[in-house]
Amino acid sequence: MISPLDVHLAGASGEVTGACTVLEYGGRSLAVDIGLIQGPASRELANATIPIEHPEWLDAVAITHAHADHCGRLPMLPRLGFKGPVLATPATADLLPMVLRASARLQRRLHGDHAATDRSAGVLFDQREVDRVCELIEPVPFGTTREVAPGVTVRFHPAGHVLGAASVLVEGPKGRRVLVSGDLGHDLGEPLPPPTAPPPAHLVVMECTRGDVEDPQLQHDPEVLLAQVLNAAAIDKQVVLIPTFAIGRAQQLLYRFGRLSRAGELGMPVMLDSAMASLVAPMHAAHPTNLSADASALLRRGIDPLDFPELHRIRSRRAAQVIKDLRGPAVVMAGSGFGDAGPIVEHFIRWLPSRRGRILLAGYCMPGSVVGQLLDDPPRLKLRGRWVPVEAPIDRLECFSGHADAAGLERWLCSMPGAQPRVALHHGDPEPRAAFAARLRRLGYDTMTPEIGVRLGV
Ligand SMILES: [Zn+2]
Repeated sequence: MISPLDVHLAGASGEVTGACTVLEYGGRSLAVDIGLIQGPASRELANATIPIEHPEWLDAVAITHAHADHCGRLPMLPRLGFKGPVLATPATADLLPMVLRASARLQRRLHGDHAATDRSAGVLFDQREVDRVCELIEPVPFGTTREVAPGVTVRFHPAGHVLGAASVLVEGPKGRRVLVSGDLGHDLGEPLPPPTAPPPAHLVVMECTRGDVEDPQLQHDPEVLLAQVLNAAAIDKQVVLIPTFAIGRAQQLLYRFGRLSRAGELGMPVMLDSAMASLVAPMHAAHPTNLSADASALLRRGIDPLDFPELHRIRSRRAAQVIKDLRGPAVVMAGSGFGDAGPIVEHFIRWLPSRRGRILLAGYCMPGSVVGQLLDDPPRLKLRGRWVPVEAPIDRLECFSGHADAAGLERWLCSMPGAQPRVALHHGDPEPRAAFAARLRRLGYDTMTPEIGVRLGV
């Protein structure tokens, strides 16, 4: 039987990057996300090939949120015949140009100017292509139904993961409804509110990044846990290094530091060594309806929930030199969140070999990445080609993950009104995916863990 709507799982099946789901109907299609594959260089080579069979047949692309693993290959689409629109919530629409421009700059830095026309050299797109796709972005507010083709609509629902993050409901021919969860946040992800209850759907394509984790820290106040780390650092006069993602984790931490500061309990400088995180914070104030009740109440009182007197934003690499001679107690937040690249690497080289340093791993640590290796308390670590001894103590606060744990994912799905949907799990490594599939099957959900490239009729 021919189904009115097919779902082509074109990315992030059994892994956590390269998100891409294509919905096909009557010879046309709509993509939800077109993300970069991130990880070892051998995997990243796959980025050169777009997983959508006929980009020229796309009526639209809907982006769940502005993380590169969900939007990072957008600029490759126009040269393949895609004419737009790119649909995103207003906050995501504001963030996308910044993220894509930074990605093009990084590619040029890594692979050189001469490689701009040589795709095999690792450059996927240039600034011109970023500008071209940014002209196609159309903001669609949460809850607004946008028709993309006769009888096919898209609607965004708050996902609580990062500013502007959405789950995408696609209603196709014959009223068949597919919900793509995007990345889902949790109840303690302030300054953002928790994800809202999902709308009814026949099929849910759902993330399961932390599908095997019951996070006991989510039962506690993240501020209390953070204050414990800071107190230990204050006693030993340590510099606390936090590998930080510019969108999401940085703001969660700034929000908690801000609260501690206003309560008079911070007592040390916080250096933010991430140009992008410094730009992203003010964007939160520009979208107050996207924020939690507490964060928007602060804004109404004229208080920026992501700013406080102890915060110092590092504006240049020269200014960042001050961190080398920093005297603890102090906090340094720097990108990248996985510790593999960016300013955090030089700070690791300076502080990992010293008991005057302290490492706080806040949130998801991808296996194999630098932060993933630090989880195992290694005696030494290879950074920029040389071995660095690890003497600094390491703390772990998973509650600063931007992702819901297994209980949170289950609560989100179970809060969907109406009949149980079928569930296709993607965006999760094999172990979390298998664990979460077993959990949903115990609850009676018809749950699939499809391989990449599989098509499901709805
Ligand atoms: Zn994300």
